[in-house]
Amino acid sequence: MVNQHFLELQGSYLFSEIAKRRSKYMEQHPDANVISLGIGDVTRGLPQAVIEAMHQAVDDMVNPSSFRGYGPEQGYSFLVDAIITGDYHRRGIELSNDEVFVSDGSKCDVGNIQEIFSQDSIVAVQDPVYPVYVDTNVMAGRAGGFDTALGRYKNIVYLDCSADNDFKPALPTERVDLIYLCYPNNPTGMTLTKDELKVWVDYAIENDCLILFDSAYEAFITEEDVPHSIYEIEGARQVAIEFRSFSKTAGFTGMRCAYTVVPKELRGRASGDNLVSINELWNRRHTTKFNGVSYVTQKGAAAIYTPEGQAQTKELIEYYMANAAMIRDGLQEVGFTVYGGVNAPYIWLKTPNNMSSWDFFDFLLKEANIVGTPGVGFGTCGDGYFRLTSFGSRENTEQAIARIKKLSF
Ligand code: PLP
Repeated sequence: MVNQHFLELQGSYLFSEIAKRRSKYMEQHPDANVISLGIGDVTRGLPQAVIEAMHQAVDDMVNPSSFRGYGPEQGYSFLVDAIITGDYHRRGIELSNDEVFVSDGSKCDVGNIQEIFSQDSIVAVQDPVYPVYVDTNVMAGRAGGFDTALGRYKNIVYLDCSADNDFKPALPTERVDLIYLCYPNNPTGMTLTKDELKVWVDYAIENDCLILFDSAYEAFITEEDVPHSIYEIEGARQVAIEFRSFSKTAGFTGMRCAYTVVPKELRGRASGDNLVSINELWNRRHTTKFNGVSYVTQKGAAAIYTPEGQAQTKELIEYYMANAAMIRDGLQEVGFTVYGGVNAPYIWLKTPNNMSSWDFFDFLLKEANIVGTPGVGFGTCGDGYFRLTSFGSRENTEQAIARIKKLSF
């Protein structure tokens, strides 16, 4: 017998449908110069400091004296220490090295974390949302089937985000155990201030729930009042797990390296109302099912924290954020309502004339030869919205905006 819950999954329709519509258009218009501002993948090369560190690490692998075989599953101390100093100590957050778990990506971590929680845990997600949170809980049997009329899984609690609440959801009105929050947000590009995030932390403390805080886009924060880590909020160590990735920060989407912070204060309820350490459970899960990120990759990741690495990654991020500003300003100039693009590489726009997300996709492809991502692909609340990314080249971004400015709606 197969895991029946996999059959509850709705087809992963979004990116295949985008590809299908794009190829059909290209077949009919082979000379069209289609620009993609749709995918969430970076396009610039790796920082030089990372490349040099990895070359050196490859040489280390030649000599029996410096060769590395299996390493610690949680990550080499040279990287864990660099993470703690570079990302946390400098913001006044204390962490010990057994609270950081290096991995091959936040996708895996945000997908795997639910394994250590009971099957009857009630899961809350934002809508629109990065689909991995939902789908991994469906696979685990927490969804209770799909309601086609609503376009939602029956047992998942959806926290609606819309223009009415500035894409910042209200607290759940029913009992939930796990709350996935993603800030800076994919797809909306929106953030919470420290006070707004504190409301969630206080709620989790009062209601005995856990926040799974996905901070894959932390490096793109530019505004002062936006927290870089949930642990800047008092009490968060008791209720939050934080996920960070080098993918977008330093061009590691193909290299694969990320980390998850699981504070030792975190407790989960076991049978008989015993409280157990979440850190110990995750450590057990991680060391049993994962054999560590390659030495060469971890050396590359550690180089991000050197002064050269910091300067080079800053330059990379500034490049993308200049694209984001260009998209945001260009769209606003011609009357679009836009969100995001200030503390995140994503620009989330309201479609003109209340077009559906897919109608706007077709319109933009046909009239401007631009591919973006229909907001409805991230959840029912995303309909009528559209996501553009700033990860393209400057030239393509400029051209895309110039084309949009010429459109009439
Ligand atoms: N979390 C969010 C919100 C993302 O958008 C992504 C990637 O697009 C990830 C996690 C996955 O990152 P990684 O490349 O580290 O697996």
